Amino acid sequence: MVFLEVKDLHANIDNKEILNGLNLKIDKGEVHVIMGPNGSGKSTFANVLLGHPKYTVTGGNALVKGESIMNLTTDERTKKGLFLGFQYPIEIPGVGYSHFLRNAYNTLNKSLADDQKNREVFLTVREFHEYVKKNLDSVGLDKSFLSRYLNEGFSGGEKKRSEVMQMLVLKPNLAILDEPDSGLDIDAVKAVAEAINQLIDTGAGVLVITHYARILRYLSKLDFVHVMSRGKIIKSGDKTLADELESRGYGWLGLEDK
Ligand code: ADP
Ligand code: MG
Repeated sequence: MVFLEVKDLHANIDNKEILNGLNLKIDKGEVHVIMGPNGSGKSTFANVLLGHPKYTVTGGNALVKGESIMNLTTDERTKKGLFLGFQYPIEIPGVGYSHFLRNAYNTLNKSLADDQKNREVFLTVREFHEYVKKNLDSVGLDKSFLSRYLNEGFSGGEKKRSEVMQMLVLKPNLAILDEPDSGLDIDAVKAVAEAINQLIDTGAGVLVITHYARILRYLSKLDFVHVMSRGKIIKSGDKTLADELESRGYGWLGLEDK
């Protein structure tokens, strides 16, 4: 059974239709990429999958392992193994990074306790810092970040490194990463790609939303590339499609950036 199946999904924001019959299947452990012009609805799709309250789903369905997630809350969706790395992570002064992430980690593991025998145990602050050290190293952040407020004063690159660091800590079955590479210098792109590769090594699936083929060169696995336009996927192929888009632009498909 496929891990994620999206069927004819329609969604609105402020009564404006953004998703317009989107179909997509992602099997366990597959790596997919969505590319597409600005304003085509890529972030909307990512947000709708995790149940962002700003959007109204007006039709269609999304299923994880055959069960609809459309009526689940965001935390229930994460307990099904979904993770979202934001295009624009927001700063939350007052919420300590370590506190936030350790609680997310412990809550997620507690929820898995019912159906997983060998769950990892609840981590204390000290144990958590020990556990997270290797993930910080992987993305090139030092441990002082843990004592800061969530994303507050992080540079653009630090925010993106931090998003994939959280992904490594929470070990989702399917990570949806919304432009994890935008605004990054080449070293940061490599670090982010390395983090994604580490997750791929665990057998997890990944959906990368990106504008540039650049990051795709560093991924250890890439199964499908999709092009999104006006709220639906209009073309799918393998990684050669990404190269073709990079060299020929979207105009080749009759699409334009907004
Ligand atoms: P992408 O990520 O592909 O660039 P988005 O999903 O961010 O596209 O946006 C899709 C469309 O939805 C755009 O036309 C954008 O202007 C519109 N949109 C996003 N947020 C809002 C909002 N709060 N109100 C009205 N329109 C919005
Ligand atoms: Mg976007």
